[in-house]
Amino acid sequence: MICPKCKELGLKSNVYPGYSTTTAAYYSPYYDENGKYHSHDGNSRMSTNSCSLGHRFNVSAAKSCPNCDWGYPEEVAILEDLITNSIPVVSGDLTVGNGGNTNFALIVKG
Ligand SMILES: [Zn+2]
Ligand SMILES: [Zn+2]
Repeated sequence: MICPKCKELGLKSNVYPGYSTTTAAYYSPYYDENGKYHSHDGNSRMSTNSCSLGHRFNVSAAKSCPNCDWGYPEEVAILEDLITNSIPVVSGDLTVGNGGNTNFALIVKG
């Protein structure tokens, strides 16, 4: 698996598979009038992955039925780049105290 964002940007990264979620709608496979088995599982299995450069993306697994053209392809959705957007703004005010002591006062905003 390749991070779609890195692919887009021409970067290389490791991808860490994340948690996956599955919707739990009921479906029943059936045999049609020709005795062919159909499995139309409408539940989507979605996993949220991240790469070593901090991109996150969702992948929903492809679904298909062996005996008809029901199904849908794998879908990849790039999520907002939370990591680079969530770094708090840190600004420092340097205060030099008396007597040669150096004190730092860090003010974290946001
Ligand atoms: Zn990436
Ligand atoms: Zn089918």
